[in-house]
Amino acid sequence: MSEEKSLNFIEEIISQDLASGKYASILTRFPPEPNGYLHIGHAKSICLNFGLAKQFGGKTNLRFDDTNPAKEDIEYVDSIKEDVKWLGFEWAKECYASDYFDQLYTFAVQLIEKGLAYVDDSSAAEIAEQKGTPTAPGTGNAFRNRTEAENLELFAAMKAGKYADGEKVLRAKIDLSSPNMHMRDPLLYRIKRAHHHRTGDQWCIYPMYDFAHGQSDSIENITHSVCTLEFIPHRALYDWCIEQLGIYPSHQYEFARLNMTYTVMSKRKLLQLVEEGHVESWDDPRMPTISGMRRRGYTADSIRDFCDRIGIAKRENIIDLSLLEFCVREHLNKIAQRRMVVTNPIKLVITNYDKGEEILHSENNPEDPNGGTRDVPFSNELWIEREDFMEEPTKKYFRLGPGLSVRLKSAYIVSCESFEKDAEGNITTVYATYNVDSKSGQDTSGIPVKGTLHWVSAKHAVPVVLNEYDRLFNVEDLASAEGDFKDYMNPISLKKVNAFAEPALANDALDARFQFLRKGYFYQDTKSTKDKLVFNRT
Ligand code: ATP
Ligand code: MG
Repeated sequence: MSEEKSLNFIEEIISQDLASGKYASILTRFPPEPNGYLHIGHAKSICLNFGLAKQFGGKTNLRFDDTNPAKEDIEYVDSIKEDVKWLGFEWAKECYASDYFDQLYTFAVQLIEKGLAYVDDSSAAEIAEQKGTPTAPGTGNAFRNRTEAENLELFAAMKAGKYADGEKVLRAKIDLSSPNMHMRDPLLYRIKRAHHHRTGDQWCIYPMYDFAHGQSDSIENITHSVCTLEFIPHRALYDWCIEQLGIYPSHQYEFARLNMTYTVMSKRKLLQLVEEGHVESWDDPRMPTISGMRRRGYTADSIRDFCDRIGIAKRENIIDLSLLEFCVREHLNKIAQRRMVVTNPIKLVITNYDKGEEILHSENNPEDPNGGTRDVPFSNELWIEREDFMEEPTKKYFRLGPGLSVRLKSAYIVSCESFEKDAEGNITTVYATYNVDSKSGQDTSGIPVKGTLHWVSAKHAVPVVLNEYDRLFNVEDLASAEGDFKDYMNPISLKKVNAFAEPALANDALDARFQFLRKGYFYQDTKSTKDKLVFNRT
């Protein structure tokens, strides 16, 4: 019997809308503002919007909500497109709110003609003051009584650049005593001289979010416009504009935004981390951005899996970062190629190995029967980890020490004979003998061993740098932490470690995922070169 996953509340609504014939098919959108790189919260929104369309045989538009020229940039547009594609989604249309500026202007004129919008000369402070409070109605001002002709002329003059920034605004004329503050004559247009990344200097007035978003949905015939809970109070205005303009009735639905432990999720704060140099860039592997996670080695599959598992809620909550890490590990365990890397080396000399060198074979992934093997050169001088040798081994120590035997991964069993120290008393070299009949996979030696060590042939080793990342912040719930979020930064969230790696790594595919034995998952950094290999710990 197959177990059917129950539908979440948005899926319920959509399936009813399709069953009732309200829509023949659905069209959703993902509407980022191109003022920063996308983060894992956006991934949730992407998976939701594109996922719904996929699930119900509909489509999704990618719409850049680019109505605030001061903070927007083409670099962000490009990164957003790359991230959505990387997550595995295809948009039906690439749209820009700025492409609708003419249409939006016409809509505003229509509202003026209906007596539903007016030009207000008050300052921002005056407007706020005249709006009243949630318990006291607004007073408004005399500009509210301007005639249609006067408003049309002034609005045209605003557009023509006759006034300075902030000198006038266009407001909707709705209800100054509405319990919903957003309905107390909200701003529709402001004057702002800023170069727009698409429309250049063509406009000096720009529509506000509330006058752009719903109308853009409507222009594109979006059926289900899904956004986060903070937009609930905006919904009345969304509906009001659409109704007054008599345009396509898109509908807004809200779900709880994703919050995660140990990180911040606001482009404004992430921009601060970049600009103040707390991280290298937007795609720094410690960042909660999609590009940072990609560079760190997270897979698109694991991010989609995570977004799926957390589902959607109607109430704010905070998700444990460890759930995302679990999803990543689960996927990597299936696909990661096993490799051997030694970080804190001591020399292991095999005194009776007189073949010079040979090529051994080691499996790429024990989880994958078709994973194949790779060549690993073996010789009489190897690097092993310092921590895998103990001068005076304790009883339960199953690694190497005087008189102890151990298996070298995919190679032979070796038995320690002696060791050497430098002047400071640090072990430098361990001497051992190997058993010729103990080759991995064809072991007839009968020697019982409990430990298996990773190793790298010294003369074949390639030097690599490992970036070992830790959490960027020390506290779980940053939203509730007092003071500046940057006070909670982990002072050591990155350690750079030199290491010796088996030579296969120099020729592996750039996008291959690795598990370095006994160390964790690693992914080649975007700045890694053949001469200086760099791997990020995922
Ligand atoms: P930020 O506060 O990080 O700048 P934003 O909401 O201003 O985020 P937008 O570019 O406007 O960013 O967001 C695009 C879409 O992604 C919106 O529909 C928004 O609701 C959604 N979104 C943003 N952050 C989250 C989040 N943490 N969880 C779920 N959806 C989100
Ligand atoms: Mg926003």
